[in-house]
Amino acid sequence: MSRPVFRFAPSPNGHLHLGHAYSALLNFARAEAAGGRFLLRLEDIDTQRCTPAFERAIFEDLAWLGLAWEEPVRRQSEHLADHRAALESLADEGLVYPAFMSRGAARAHIAEAEADGTPWPRDPDGVPLYPAVDRQRADGERRRRMAAGEPFAWRLDMAAATARYGAGLDWQEAGAGPHGESGVVAARPQDWGDVVLARKETPTSYHLAVVVDDALQGVTDVVRGRDLFHATAVHRLLQEMLGLPAPRYEHHRLVLDASGHKLSKSRGDTGIAALRAAGAAPADIRRMVGLA
Ligand code: GLU
Repeated sequence: MSRPVFRFAPSPNGHLHLGHAYSALLNFARAEAAGGRFLLRLEDIDTQRCTPAFERAIFEDLAWLGLAWEEPVRRQSEHLADHRAALESLADEGLVYPAFMSRGAARAHIAEAEADGTPWPRDPDGVPLYPAVDRQRADGERRRRMAAGEPFAWRLDMAAATARYGAGLDWQEAGAGPHGESGVVAARPQDWGDVVLARKETPTSYHLAVVVDDALQGVTDVVRGRDLFHATAVHRLLQEMLGLPAPRYEHHRLVLDASGHKLSKSRGDTGIAALRAAGAAPADIRRMVGLA
């Protein structure tokens, strides 16, 4: 029987904090307990914000915590051809479209629609769904605007995608969702609307890259924060559309700060490097995240 494969997949756009340490340690422990493999993947498609210095700091922090991972480490930015191929297969099926509205234009469109008091639908993160305007454009206009060099993003035609691939979609949840969901969870990708799958300059987005890379790396068990619980619905839909296997999922609790908020990469006080510099030992970190 092949060994289960776990991965920790940080973005090198900041320093790791206690929340990352918890996720990495939990993945490592799960892999060890299952006799599985532990991979590290750098989710660095945002070349503006990801830097080699943050990457080095991630390696340093994780090694200091006592983790060991397989080499070579996969960098998403080195595999854009794989992501582009996946995008093209979805485009060939007519399930993506170029979306031209700027953030400001979308906001104005939504504000106008809400002016009469009707609330615009929001995704599970509370962000307004993308207006249908671009989805309804004629092919000729799309081609003309793309040829003219207008900026655009490739968005998933969610209605068409769920009509073709959304029936009976679910996933196996070993952790729990925000409302305690566990076991077999029904996926509701439609709650996200027409998500971005790629941009003009970058042939992928978080959703597309995570699904393609988990499959290419043979990941069997995705253990990650509860903040990504609802996004799993989009991932399951993409897996179905691309003919990729579904991993098992475990969405773990989040490590919160003293006031009950999610930690952020800009908050130095919960950064692993800062805690180390202040004299903390790896065992202290384990205790602080509740893993002692
Ligand atoms: N790169 C994502 C993050 O740093 C994690 C993605 C995942 O585990 O699926 O939040």
